[in-house]
Amino acid sequence: MKIGFHGAARTVTGSKYLLTLDHYRLLVDCGLFQGGFEMHQRNWRPLAFSPASVDDVLFTHAHIDHTGYFPRLAADGFTGRALATPPTKALLGVLLPDSGGLQEEEARFANKKGFSRHQPAKPLYTEDDANRSLQLLHRMEFDQETTLHKGLKVKLHRAGHILGASFAEIRYRDPEDDWKTVVFSGDLGRRAVPILHDPAPLPACDVLVCESTYGDRLHEATDPKEQLRRELSDSFRRGGFTVIPAFAVGRTQEILYHLFELFEEGRLPKVPVYVDSPMANSVVELYCRYRSEHDVEMQELEDNVGSPLQTPYFTVVRKRDESKKLNDLPGPGIVISASGMATGGRVLHHLLHRLPDARNTVLFVGYQAEGSLGRRLLEGETDVTVLGEGLTVKAAIKKIPALSAHADANEIIAWIKSAPTPPKRVYLTHGEPAAQDTFAARLRSELGLLVHVPEPDDVVEV
Ligand SMILES: [Zn+2]
Repeated sequence: MKIGFHGAARTVTGSKYLLTLDHYRLLVDCGLFQGGFEMHQRNWRPLAFSPASVDDVLFTHAHIDHTGYFPRLAADGFTGRALATPPTKALLGVLLPDSGGLQEEEARFANKKGFSRHQPAKPLYTEDDANRSLQLLHRMEFDQETTLHKGLKVKLHRAGHILGASFAEIRYRDPEDDWKTVVFSGDLGRRAVPILHDPAPLPACDVLVCESTYGDRLHEATDPKEQLRRELSDSFRRGGFTVIPAFAVGRTQEILYHLFELFEEGRLPKVPVYVDSPMANSVVELYCRYRSEHDVEMQELEDNVGSPLQTPYFTVVRKRDESKKLNDLPGPGIVISASGMATGGRVLHHLLHRLPDARNTVLFVGYQAEGSLGRRLLEGETDVTVLGEGLTVKAAIKKIPALSAHADANEIIAWIKSAPTPPKRVYLTHGEPAAQDTFAARLRSELGLLVHVPEPDDVVEV
């Protein structure tokens, strides 16, 4: 079998791995490159394979950097099955059309402001393309092995990263008639975080294709809820507004869960909280719907007080003009809005209005990719352009490093050690070069593993 690394190779976005067994082709994840201009441009390059030649697509989870290229793949000729766990399938019904709408909006905006390099700017795909691509989705239950092709079977295990997230165990028959196993980690979550089950242990495998987002970092041992309380108390004292750019899927729900507990425990003044993302609100509903995915604590809360994610503490903002009205509200207050790396979405309007005021705080609660506005703000840039307008940053720029949906280096190592036997070979993906090189060195020296770090479009025989 061959594996081609056509995205998330030496970078953290654009996940696309093409498996070829005889004439059968399975694409594991079909993500969008995200981040700065260079990443954006990569989505426009022709793929190293023809979309029509792919038989099936398998999604590990719903995040756009793992799924957001799919409408384009379908528009360019893919007609096979796209397989996902039931919650992932439901999330994609929200995320992909939204992504199409966002692509169209960006193209319109670029044309209006005249800052596109395409003349005229066009979307990578439209909301209609995204809706059409949803027709190709099929459910694949957790923990049930399914034969996709003669000599190739897939089982999805819970990865604890976001609702519906899985890692994929793929068994295939090699030319010597032996069954071999390759595991794709997808994005690996952490143990003991709110709402979802912990990641399942790693099965025995010949090849592990493993993410390495935090390959050179360890998450702070500090309780993220306590960090959130501290940063918010600080911000409330200054009387400003706190803007929390947050991924609509996963991070928003985790923040709401912590805020609910902090308000209930009386550890934080009950200030108004606006969830300004129609998508995040739809996703909250899905998080509540799939009770089979909830851990014991979440189930107990739901049984005793109702869902901590849907309470009177939180105001849902759906309409665009309601969103704009938030710009005039005095602090203290909190607005949670997407995108999490401030690369698009409604959060940009909030940043445009709140960044120039020293009383305000922008609180980052997730990973910020190289080149993203979020990363540049955290690195201390004071003159930035938001929605085509230049401004000087006066607001406090803070982050909560302990909050992460990704396992850190030690946690990935613990997961690899959870396998009954060590993987014979490891390919590191989904990491920036420094993180990958550090992590590869650790895996070699501490676990004695054979580790490779593929470059973009490398194809290996396994
Ligand atoms: Zn993810």
